[in-house]
Amino acid sequence: MKTIPISAFARGKVQSLLDAFIDNELLVETSLDIIRHTSRCHNCETLIRDATSLRLRVQLAVQKIEAPAHLCRNLSQLISRLR
Ligand SMILES: [Zn+2]
Repeated sequence: MKTIPISAFARGKVQSLLDAFIDNELLVETSLDIIRHTSRCHNCETLIRDATSLRLRVQLAVQKIEAPAHLCRNLSQLISRLR
């Protein structure tokens, strides 16, 4: 991972680091640079808030989907064979 100076941050840079930031995969220094930037940049703050909200909604939607019974049965059989 590399640290990017805050002066280098632009909307495009925040966009390129968005997923890693939300997933907490960046260096602390880089995350702090993004937080400082978004405290002064409404566009990037909105970008991160919207992406975080979308991610949470997708996670909740996916949790409501049940796998078909035959898929569960086939996976259980496959796991049993691997043990
Ligand atoms: Zn920005």
